[in-house]
Amino acid sequence: MIKTIKRKNEINRIIKDLKKEGKKIGLVPTMGFLHEGHISLIKKSRKECDITAVSIFVNPVQFGPNEDFVRYPRDFERDRILADREGADIIFYPEPSEMYPDNHLTYVNVEKMEKIMCGKFRPGHFRGVCTVVLKLFNIISPDKAYFGLKDFQQLAILKKMVSDLDVDVQIVECETIREPDGLALSSRNAYLNPEERKNANILYLAIIMAENEIKRGRSIAAARQNAMKMLKGCSFIKKIDYFDIRDPEDLKTVRKLDGEKSKILIASAVWFGKTRLIDNKVINTEP
Ligand code: AMP
Repeated sequence: MIKTIKRKNEINRIIKDLKKEGKKIGLVPTMGFLHEGHISLIKKSRKECDITAVSIFVNPVQFGPNEDFVRYPRDFERDRILADREGADIIFYPEPSEMYPDNHLTYVNVEKMEKIMCGKFRPGHFRGVCTVVLKLFNIISPDKAYFGLKDFQQLAILKKMVSDLDVDVQIVECETIREPDGLALSSRNAYLNPEERKNANILYLAIIMAENEIKRGRSIAAARQNAMKMLKGCSFIKKIDYFDIRDPEDLKTVRKLDGEKSKILIASAVWFGKTRLIDNKVINTEP
């Protein structure tokens, strides 16, 4: 049976004992309300590690003052059953006060990368993500930590943090899991009303359209413009935060294809009513 642990000292001690026995520890950090995307991370950790710890923590520090921290979906009992069914060993489920006592003052900033794309529209978001993830790494000391490519910018920033701060953990990238119509699974999909849900795959379709046009030799600017036009034409989309074409390594804007780098990132964030959805795809432009 899966163990639920709420105290950082306790999980730290348990993991230390397991490591003394030579066990390899995998960590799957989540904000809960688990879906098949999270489950795919748990499955990968189960395959590669002896012990899989899943953290469930809706991290207040990564939400802006007008964002959805309070209404973010939560269902711990369901999450516990799902994680148990997948064979995870430990759930770390701390209270906010356990992670951020009143005297907390230290935060992690990955400069430049945290200010673009989603960071431009969610100031302080990646500072919150990096802070909580580094804390989880220090509390749990995993050998490997599993993150989804669905949150591509988050993954790129966390890889940079781990490399810049010499954190001894291997970051494992996991493919985006999608609904049959292409919509990337997300806990926030639960906010969509049925009409919005029916139309929400347009975000993925716009990305695929841009991919096809770029592969057919259209300019990046034209492909981007067409995708924007498609998104603007959808009456359910209230705002497009960005539709960007970037270098998947350093996240710098790509204006035209150069012969040396064949991989480019197409990434977008849009608002379906009050729901902010993100998606992305790394494409190979070589024939
Ligand atoms: P969250 O609970 O939304 O913070 O997500 C926890 C982890 O699950 C992050 O590493 C996400 O990138 C990953 N994740 C979320 N949705 C998906 C998905 N559709 N496919 C793969 N991984 C995902």
